[in-house]
Amino acid sequence: METWNSFFNKGKHSLTRHKPHEALPFFIEALNCCPVTDNKSHARILFYLGATLKKLRFDNSALKSWILGMKFNKVGYSFKMIQRFSNEYGMIKQDSTSMDDWQAFFSLQLAKYIQGKKTKKIGSPAELDMVKDLIYDFWKEVQGHIADMKANEKTAFFRSVTIMFPIPGNRQEFATQEAIPYNFRLKKHITGTMRCFCGSNIPYALCCGRITSGEELINGCF
Ligand SMILES: [Zn+2]
Repeated sequence: METWNSFFNKGKHSLTRHKPHEALPFFIEALNCCPVTDNKSHARILFYLGATLKKLRFDNSALKSWILGMKFNKVGYSFKMIQRFSNEYGMIKQDSTSMDDWQAFFSLQLAKYIQGKKTKKIGSPAELDMVKDLIYDFWKEVQGHIADMKANEKTAFFRSVTIMFPIPGNRQEFATQEAIPYNFRLKKHITGTMRCFCGSNIPYALCCGRITSGEELINGCF
């Protein structure tokens, strides 16, 4: 029987020979075979899995893999990759701050739309276009209000914007106002760089406060 290590080495071998599509199944297999108690090995595999996904241009999945790797071992290599590729929302960094903001606003609103649907998914490319156009109409207004806000304030504001999406007879109620997370022990609002309150010991923006990208919401993780 093959051990996680042999899959891991095969994966690394494929990666060094610039064959990420070959490396991917090896790293996934290594992850499946790795003993559940071995945190450091999990962190190592997830780092390489992230690097492989990045090479295959699955940027959001790569980031997710590194963030998970950091949860297993916070001093691991994944930390550097996250710093390099993620923004203050815990999402993949875009070309400009306003693109980062748009991506966060779009993803939060898309999540609301999907949650409000009975099927919990987007049915067609045309539906996605319609939703995107609607969110963009609001964005032009929203953009004017966020100039002096910090990331966590922007996140709360983006969430609080209510768009009346056309989902006839299918709408569920959801809260329109979402509070900024608050640490009652420290008596402080939780910012993206503070350690997450769930005990993972990694920054809030990369853990429970992470905004799931639109791509992940539509396609799932990988
Ligand atoms: Zn957390």
